[in-house]
This record gives sequence, C-alpha cells and structure tokens, in this order.
Amino acid sequence: MPTLTIDGKSVTVPEGTTVIQAAEKLGIDVPRYCYHPGLSIAGNCRICLVEVEKNPKLQIACNLPAAEGMAVQTQNSKVNQGRESVLEFLLANHPLDCPVCDQSGECDLQNFYMRYGLYDARFEERKVKKAKAVPLGPTVMLDAERCILCSRCERFTDEISKTGEFGIFNRGDRAEIGLYPGKKLDNKYSGNVVDICPVGALTDRDFRFKARVWYLSSAPSVCNGCSRGCNVDVHYVLDRPHLAGGARVMRLKPRYSAEVNQWWMCDEGRYGYKFIDQSRLRKVLHKGVETPWEAALTELSNGLSGARSEGKQSSVAVLASAQLTTEELFLIRKLFKEALGISQVTADLPKQPGYHDSFLIQADKNPNSAGAALLGLTGSGPQGSDLIERALSGEISALWVFGHDLVKLFGEEKVKGLSEKLCQFIFQGPNENGTSRHAHWVLPSAVYLEKDGTFVNCQGRVQRIGRVFDPLKESREDWRILLELAQLLKLPLAHHSPEEIFSGMSKEIPAFAGMTYEKLGRQGLPAGRQGAVIQR
Ligand code: SF4
Ligand code: SF4
Repeated sequence: MPTLTIDGKSVTVPEGTTVIQAAEKLGIDVPRYCYHPGLSIAGNCRICLVEVEKNPKLQIACNLPAAEGMAVQTQNSKVNQGRESVLEFLLANHPLDCPVCDQSGECDLQNFYMRYGLYDARFEERKVKKAKAVPLGPTVMLDAERCILCSRCERFTDEISKTGEFGIFNRGDRAEIGLYPGKKLDNKYSGNVVDICPVGALTDRDFRFKARVWYLSSAPSVCNGCSRGCNVDVHYVLDRPHLAGGARVMRLKPRYSAEVNQWWMCDEGRYGYKFIDQSRLRKVLHKGVETPWEAALTELSNGLSGARSEGKQSSVAVLASAQLTTEELFLIRKLFKEALGISQVTADLPKQPGYHDSFLIQADKNPNSAGAALLGLTGSGPQGSDLIERALSGEISALWVFGHDLVKLFGEEKVKGLSEKLCQFIFQGPNENGTSRHAHWVLPSAVYLEKDGTFVNCQGRVQRIGRVFDPLKESREDWRILLELAQLLKLPLAHHSPEEIFSGMSKEIPAFAGMTYEKLGRQGLPAGRQGAVIQR
C-alpha cells in the first residue's frame, strides 16, 4: 500500500495502482485519450504527462505505478507545456472540421486544446488526406482524418467484444485505423467504440446529425432490452421537436455500473429505443370508439366489482407482464389477487428466448422477470397459455392483458377467437400490437422512461429506472391506472406515487425489506436473500 502525494495531497493506494488511478481517487482529473479504465494500457497518446519529483523527464501517468514517497505534480507550467506539445503533434494532420463534426461539443481534442493548447498553429505543410465518412458496418461511421490513433477501438474489439475487427495500418503520418480485409464492424457491441473514441473519428450512424449535443438533456435510467438491466443515460430533447422529427429520445449511452455492465452496453439495447416514440397508443378506445378515461375505468371497475359480489372471480383472468415495474406488479398482486380474490393472475407466458452470450446479453428479453418471480407472479401459479385455452372454451369471460402481444405468442386465430368469446377483453399497454387490434378495451399506458419504479435484474439487483419525461398525452402510468381502479373499487390501496408503493412493498415482501429509493440510489442494491427466486 504505497503512500504518495499528488499536487500536495497525500493518498495511500493498493500495490499496482497507477498514478492516473491514484489521482482519480483524490478527485484530480488528469487528461487522457488512450487510457480507459476498462481496457489494457497502451500509453501511446502521451497527453497524461505529469512531473515526478527527482525525475528529469515528464512521465505518463497512465502507465506509471504509484510508489512509496513519490511526489507528483499534475498541474504546473512544465506539465502544461508538455501537454501543449502533445496536442500540437496530434493536431498536425487533423482536419479541424469541428463545425461539421458530430463530436463537436463532446470532443476531447476541443476540450484539451481549450485547457492546454491555445497556441498559434505553426504547421504550414499540406495535411495528409485520409478517407472520410466510411461506413464500417450498420452502426458506425469512420472519419480517418480525425483519428488520433489512440487504439481504444482496437483494444475494445480485441479485449471486450473479442471480435478483433480493428487494426492500425501503415506507418508514420500515413498510419491509420481501419478494419482487417473482409471484416465488417457488425458485432453485438459495436456501438461502444463510438462512446470510447475520444474524438470525432468514430460516429454513430443512428445519431449522426440528429442534434447538436448541447441541445441534449440527460437522465439516468436502466435499459429494458433484456433481464441484464444495463445502466444507461438517456439523452433526449423536449423543446426542439424540429430537431428530432417529433421524437424525444435521441440516443442511449451506457452508464458505469461496477456490478452490472461496467462501461458497456449491447447494440440491441442501444438502438432498441424507437418504440418509445413510435406506434404509441394515444387514445382510450372501447370497441374502436374513443372513450374518456374516467368512463372507461368506471365501467371496468363495475365489471370487476360485479364479479366479486357474485363470487365469480374464477371468470376473470389477468396476464401481468415482466415489462412492468416491480411497483406495478405489486399493485396487480394486491388489487386483483388479494383484494378482489382473483386467483388467475400470472406473468408466466410462453418464453420466446432470444440471442444471449456470456458477457451482457440475456436470452430473457424482459427487464423484470426476477421482480415478477419475487412477487409470486411466476413459478407456481397458473400458466398464461392455460388461461388462454380456458378463455377460448368459455370458462373465462373477462381477460385483462398487460402489454403482451398475444398474436405473436398464440397466433391471430386464437386472439380473434378471444375477441369473440370474451365479454371483456382489455389491453393495457404503451404500443400498438396484435392484442390491441383485437381487444375490446384499449388503455394507453406509459413506457418505462415515462414513469418511476424499479426492475430486478437477472443478478437479483433492484435498480431504479427513474422518470425521464412525462407520459405522452392521454397515456397514463400503469401504477396510476391501477390506483385509480382501486379507488373506484374502494379498495384500501392508499399510495400516491411509485415511491410510496415501494415503501409499502418493502414492508410486506422480505426480498425488499429495508430498501428505500434513497438507499437504492443510482446503482441499485441486491434483493434480500429471503425471497431470492431469480430467473435467468
Ligand atoms: S478511431 Fe477513435 S478510438 Fe479508434 S484509434 Fe482513432 S481516435 Fe482512437
Ligand atoms: S445487454 Fe440487455 S440490458 Fe444491456 S444493453 Fe443489451 S439489451 Fe439492454
């Protein structure tokens, strides 16, 4: 455990820690291009120069092990002069096309030039020309002139995705990044190279020229693309619809989580956000006719209340969904199972396993299967497919479906059959699908970015999704719809927000005991062992 001083502050770090990491521990920011904490050390960009006492030359902090008694200066005229020279060298052949570069505003060449550069250019020769706007695959575009050869992208594909597409070819000022012959950048994690490219050499084909980054707002959330629950930042615009053609979400970026996804996310999750603004349900419909929310909920609550007073709970079934938040699943359990006595409530529907690997991507494409299991909505109760058969045979007369596309799961004929057989066929969900087209009632609900709540991931980690923006006009959060229904049914569910529901849940369900939103923070907590029935 060597103790050293950096800028006069003392720090003790584990053996093997580098100076850049020790500085981070003290909150001292040392500039870097090639250094990335998730990748091996290359030490080639030289911008992290620091001065070490009794050492005649400046040293690179990323590859310098911290040693006992070391005295490091990260900010003085000698260090700044060294960094300025590095920048001058890196920018010698750079095209300086910031006004048309998509990285502008979040580019570390710009940032560090403003901090350590601000010199008058001395380079009068012709710059070396390289290829611009080269598609490397479906997701990434390369501008070779802007590349500073930090090799982060190469190390990512060698060490993390293990697909090895990138290489550095030629020598001297002709050296350039590129793909090996016959290779395309189309691995499942390709978008990460854009995140880690410190300059505008690799840009995202999905995001390019959609919005200048200074127009973007950002909020933390969790990806709902599979049960891994990667931590993400949502970049969005609300007040400049002309920039986005009406869309609000501009892009997703991975957010660091030591336990879940480190610095990375997959392409499926990264580019799978379009459903948030596309094919949304915008009206409450009864048999195709627009109906006010209050009238719809009153009629539906009357139906449920009638079934309860006549003791006909067995004629009602509910297909809950592991796409809902834990709070909403808890309300479904409280309202339908416990208060109304409906036993046919399940989130167990046939699984449609998708691609998975041994890194992040899970076969289960639901973000909250573990939450549904902890709440007893999967595992031991009725199976969704049995309930569908019972509905088709006339044993069930009212079916409430949360979000599922039953056409995909059971085929169009069966869903048409449900529409004919059932007295009440209710679909509650955010997007149009096969079920919404055949249901008698359509209740438009909010997508996950429009509501607060939690998901429990495949590792059993309870993570808060946060609310990024308001629900689209006319749609309502599922928890709000359920609470309004409970109020009409005069049921004792006295909650007013997801936080209150979570607090109630933490008192009743051992797996959440002692948890609060504040304790979950932005990194989440593992669910308690008592109820740990985690499904992968
Ligand atoms: S393309 Fe970007 S990440 Fe790759 S070597 Fe060049 S600057 Fe580094
Ligand atoms: S691995 Fe799953 S949770 Fe993570 S980004 Fe991909 S789809 Fe989203």
